[in-house]
Amino acid sequence: MKTETTIQGLTASLAPARTTKKLIGFVPTMGNLHEGHLTLVRAAKKICDVVVVSIFVNPIQFGAGEDFDSYPRTLEQDSRLLADVGCDIIFAPSVEQMYGKHPRLTNISVSQITNDLCGESRPGHFDGVAVVVTKLFNIVQPDYAFFGQKDYQQLAVIRQLVQDLNIPLEVIGVPIVRAADGLALSSRNGYLSEEERIAAPTIYQLLKQAEAALGEGQALSQVLANISIELTQVGFVVDYVEARQPNLQPIEQFDRDLVLFVAAKLGSTRLIDNLQIDFKI
Ligand code: AMP
Repeated sequence: MKTETTIQGLTASLAPARTTKKLIGFVPTMGNLHEGHLTLVRAAKKICDVVVVSIFVNPIQFGAGEDFDSYPRTLEQDSRLLADVGCDIIFAPSVEQMYGKHPRLTNISVSQITNDLCGESRPGHFDGVAVVVTKLFNIVQPDYAFFGQKDYQQLAVIRQLVQDLNIPLEVIGVPIVRAADGLALSSRNGYLSEEERIAAPTIYQLLKQAEAALGEGQALSQVLANISIELTQVGFVVDYVEARQPNLQPIEQFDRDLVLFVAAKLGSTRLIDNLQIDFKI
């Protein structure tokens, strides 16, 4: 496994794979890797010849007062984990390498599907994601790119971006990896105190209860309100509890497949989760 920190170095490392037309898989991450990230790498290994994992804490997707400075940077530990799952190349550029050369005058904004959910509470976040992912796609030029359904709205934004801008690659979505108690794995879980970590799986428990309640015919508005109330009772500050069609459009018909979304803060840690509900009627 190689680690490259410059665009030039990465291009040189990938040159043999490109000339021999090997399939290149790409997994963008911000590091502090866990089993969720490693599952993306394993999915990439299954269908690609060469797998590149980027580790880059992207400053322009963090808002003022968010955790850019404190975000865990654990490159050595990440490298060991990636070597174990057969990653071929780590791309770990500096902020200077990604943004330093020229002042950036281009922004990329995916409209509509970024207007609500995390887009509403994190203004500019998805623009920052769209810019960095487009830059990384152009640098790596992969055949396949792998993203987690944990960040469901992000995955939708990237699919839209790839379609709208004719970026020549296929986006693969990978299901959420959870801890044994149901908490969706996230680098931000490390911020939780012992007490908060015990409360955190409530999000998933309530999503599963909501699924059962909807199956029994309870009204969606009531089910969503209950999640909010119960999260507040165990100490969360709820950002949103929403339901959307799988394409993120508003629900039109109640008995169609839908996705439940939760974002809530425990102390200063913002957690997100979602659950896809397939109505089998
Ligand atoms: P991050 O490092 O948080 O930017 O995440 C990098 C990639 O890993 C994104 O595509 C995330 O959606 C994905 N990811 C993070 N946590 C999980 C998880 N628990 N299950 C599946 N994918 C995940």
